Amino acid sequence: MGASNYSGVWKNCATCEHWSGARKPLPGHDGVTVDSSTVGVCNGFWKGSRKYANDKCGGWAKWGHITQASPEREIS
Ligand code: SF4
Repeated sequence: MGASNYSGVWKNCATCEHWSGARKPLPGHDGVTVDSSTVGVCNGFWKGSRKYANDKCGGWAKWGHITQASPEREIS
């Protein structure tokens, strides 16, 4: 258990507009924090499939609650 942070530039499901999982924008709004046990459903390219926060695909679209992350910012 625990939370993981995802930068928007990594383009995971965690930061995708099409993912239904619970997440919170990071203070700088350039990424999100997600509980490690979270599973969401994709409503985009993999419509109806269960996806973990760290999954990704070519259909990624930036979640509306974050800005595009600056590449130089590191999130750990
Ligand atoms: S599978 Fe692709 S389209 Fe679906 S939520 Fe993840 S990154 Fe977005």
